[in-house]
This record gives sequence, C-alpha cells and structure tokens, in this order.
Amino acid sequence: MIYDCAIIGAGPAGITSAIQLKRAGFTITLFEKKKIGGLAPNAHHIENYLGFREGISGRKLTSLFVRQLKLWKIPVVVAEVTNITKKNFFYIYTPQKKYKARSVILATGTIPLEANIPGEKELSGEKVFYEVTDLLSKSRSNKSAVAIIGGGDVGFDYALRLIEKKYQPRIITSHKIKCLDLLKQRVKKKKIPCLENIQIRSIKSNKHKVEVICRGIKFIVDYVLIAIGRKPSLPLIKVVNRDGLFMAGDVQNAAQRQIHIATGDGMKAALNVINYLQTKC
Ligand SMILES: Cc1cc2nc3c(=O)[nH]c(=O)nc-3n(C[C@H](O)[C@H](O)[C@H](O)COP(=O)(O)OP(=O)(O)OC[C@H]3O[C@@H](n4cnc5c(N)ncnc54)[C@H](O)[C@@H]3O)c2cc1C
Repeated sequence: MIYDCAIIGAGPAGITSAIQLKRAGFTITLFEKKKIGGLAPNAHHIENYLGFREGISGRKLTSLFVRQLKLWKIPVVVAEVTNITKKNFFYIYTPQKKYKARSVILATGTIPLEANIPGEKELSGEKVFYEVTDLLSKSRSNKSAVAIIGGGDVGFDYALRLIEKKYQPRIITSHKIKCLDLLKQRVKKKKIPCLENIQIRSIKSNKHKVEVICRGIKFIVDYVLIAIGRKPSLPLIKVVNRDGLFMAGDVQNAAQRQIHIATGDGMKAALNVINYLQTKC
C-alpha cells in the first residue's frame, strides 16, 4: 500500500493535518510513539485557545481532538518512526515495519531538556520525571512532595496542577522566575513555595525518598519534576531531495510552543501536501 501522506506524531499538529487530508479524500497513516494527543494533556488550564471562554484543561481539550480523530476513522500506528528515506517514494521505518508514502508531515513536537544534575539519569522514570502526566501515572500517593525544577510557565503550570490534586509541590529554580505574572499570582495564592537562584548540586535516592541537594540546603521529596525547556524531536531523516516533506507544530517552533500555532501549522502542512500531490506527484 502506498499512502498519499504519512503523518508522524499525533499531537495537535498531526491530528489537524490528518483530519484535513482525510476530509479531502487522501489516504493517510498517522504514527504515534507514546500517546495520542501529544504534550497538551500536561497543561493544567488552557485559557488562550479560542472557543473556551472559561478555559479548559489540557486533558479535556485533547479528548475533544481525539474524539474528532476517531469520528474520521483515522488509523493510528502506535510505533516510533526511527528513520525516513526517499527513493521515488518516502520510506518510513518503525522497529516492526516499513511503510511507503508519497509525502510526509513531521509533527513530532519536542523532547524535554535534561538538567544534567548528578543523579538525575539514574532516577529518571522512577523518581525523576519531565512531564507531569508521566509523574501522575507513576505516583501512588497524591500526598507526595514534588520538587519542580524550573521557574518558567511550564513549571508553574505543573505546580498548580499538582496542588489541585493535593500533592505538595515546591518550585526551585537556579535563575530568576520567568513566567506569566498571572501564573505567579496563582502560585502565590496557593502558598506554593518558590525558591529562586538556588544551585542544585545533586539528586540522590534515600530509601523511598529523594534528596535534592542544593548549595547550603537540602530538600527531601518523593519526586522531582524537571521543566527547564524543550528541544525539537526528530527521527533520522536520510533524504537528499526534500520535496514532499513538510513540518508542522512545535518541532519547528520550539521557542513558541502553543496549540494554536501547532494546529494552524498542521492545517497549512495538509494544504501544502494537497497542493504537492495534485501538482507534482
Ligand atoms: C505544562 C504545559 C502547559 C501548556 N499550556 C498551553 C496553553 O495554555 N496553551 C497553548 O496553546 N499551549 C500550551 N502548551 C503547549 C502545547 O501543549 C504544545 O504547543 C502542543 O501540544 C504542540 O503540539 P504538536 O502537535 O506540535 O506537538 P506535541 O503535542 O509535542 O505532539 C508531538 C507528538 O509526536 C509524537 N512523536 C514524536 N516523535 C515521534 C516519532 N519518531 N514517531 C512517532 N511519534 C512521535 C510524540 O509522542 C507526540 O505525541 C502547554 C504545554 C505544557 C507542557
């Protein structure tokens, strides 16, 4: 089977592209390595997405996206695309299988930056997390203390989500806090401790707890959540002629990560694919 378009990544960008191409009558396949919906379910309260005046949680908004995807009966291959090559057609490789397509949309989003703190790697996935949804799916008690490392919008959003779920978050940042003032006010109102200009030396497991060792101070917590930024996530692309290869969403806008931009990009990429298939294929 030769698909008209292979879309890699089922976040807001990839889902938008998939629906538009399916509506237009093209054959598509959508790949997702983790969970349909992408990064958005991590968002505590989205109030800048049009149409939801009082705001909506990332989980709810994502469930609406997924419902629309299902309504259009769009098949999702749950697998990681490891590399892409091109020889007349695009060849999309997953560990299990090779797929063939006339065009490709890369909507692979971003991956979190590591803080490179001694001990971080060893505890990753058990005690150290980079996305709040991963922490919530792993943690057993909602009374857990969580050290959030990072003083940007995402760190503050995570703190608000955790306090709502009765966790005990604490924000620690090695720099000055750099987030929206309204998030700062909400965190302050909830009395979430916030420490600026704290240099973290190491993270150490101690029985069931984690010690966050800083210069002159030590915190004992259950989990560490690192939110210090993200970088584009890309499979290996061995393609000389890039005609027919398009990008959409955070993968190309890593500094301006917003659902509106991702969905707009997803739509634009789909329209570019249609134009490409109708004129050059
Ligand atoms: C805490 C938090 C709060 C936020 N709040 C807001 C907000 O209020 N308003 C707003 O507009 N935005 C917000 N965002 C940002 C928003 O979630 C992102 O901008 C949006 O999800 C980007 O969509 P995307 O489709 O480009 O990428 P993503 O959502 O990252 O989706 C990419 C998908 O591709 C998959 N993938 C990656 N590589 C591969 C591969 N090789 N093979 C198969 N699949 C792959 C990933 O698993 C992922 O599901 C927030 C983000 C966070 C973390």
